[in-house]
Amino acid sequence: MRDRIALIVAAGRGTRFGGPAPKQYLPFGGTTVLAAAAMALRPFMPVACVIHPDDLERYRSATAGLDLLPPVFGGPDRQASVRNGLEALAGDPPGLVLVHDAARPDLPPAVVRRLLEALETHDGAAPGLPVADTLKRVEEGRSVGTVSRDGLWRIQTPQGFRYPALLAAHRDAAPASYSDDTALAEAAGLSIAVVQGDARLEKITEAGDAARLPGPDIRTGHGFDVHRLVPGDGVTLCGVRIAHDRALSGHSDADVGMHALTDAIIGALAEGDIGQHFPPGDPEWRGAASEIFLAGARDMAAARGGRILHCDVTLVCETPKIGPHRAVMRAELARILAIPVDRVSVKATTSEKLGFTGRGEGIAAQATATLALP
Ligand code: MG
Repeated sequence: MRDRIALIVAAGRGTRFGGPAPKQYLPFGGTTVLAAAAMALRPFMPVACVIHPDDLERYRSATAGLDLLPPVFGGPDRQASVRNGLEALAGDPPGLVLVHDAARPDLPPAVVRRLLEALETHDGAAPGLPVADTLKRVEEGRSVGTVSRDGLWRIQTPQGFRYPALLAAHRDAAPASYSDDTALAEAAGLSIAVVQGDARLEKITEAGDAARLPGPDIRTGHGFDVHRLVPGDGVTLCGVRIAHDRALSGHSDADVGMHALTDAIIGALAEGDIGQHFPPGDPEWRGAASEIFLAGARDMAAARGGRILHCDVTLVCETPKIGPHRAVMRAELARILAIPVDRVSVKATTSEKLGFTGRGEGIAAQATATLALP
């Protein structure tokens, strides 16, 4: 059984929004609203999106290269769309499901962690914020009374549930009756915990909201690495094993490209360097595939709520030839970072037979990484 899966509800037409595309496909933080929501959840669990059939091309272009489950087509309203998403998972049911609105793209990882913790002891859990404004009952433009806000909370998404319980509740529910899944689940008798939400999770509902949201903190990090060439039968560069008349020497698999990129990401986070997080003297990393380091840096970025927007690696060597392997290297780095391949660049250069790289004594790599932090 799969542990947990997130469903992102993105089937709305955004009729209140009045833009050139449904709001979930508008630009946000260097990507799109939908992709940002998916990238925020992806470090925690597999993600499937529920989309409108007319948006299939938009969806493909917005999520190209993201490692997502196949999309599911939604129904005429939100409740029907969630039901379709839940039914699509029934063949291989997860233990937990998180249902999230695509229109809440700025999801802090701390909220997901609070939900998962609450789900250890509750059927369901949702983030919320206490109501801070005065509440009025208004009739024909005139206040007819003040409503006590004591104990009133505004509920956000993602909302998490035990999957079998939520699926059963949806199957029993009258169509088009509930504004969200906590309302539907409560009507079915499930106990719902409310955890601290976040103002950043505010839903995009009006034209211009996406542009008004606070812009991300864009960071660029740089990394550099060298490993020595020794007698051997091949090298691993950017995750790709290449037959060669020599090998790279180092404590792990000595993948200079991946090490430089790992350091670039850690640099953008200003959290030290690769040696500090993965000490070279540590026997744990002896012969290790460097994917561990790059995935570790990816997780450090995710833990800060960051998104990796782009990376660029330059390998410096006379041989082996990098060109024939470049596409596979890009695909491999994109897979590990869980970002689209068109956001990953791998380049190579020689050093004109000058210096240690020119004499074939070692291979060097430089990398930059651009991150968006909240
Ligand atoms: Mg290294």
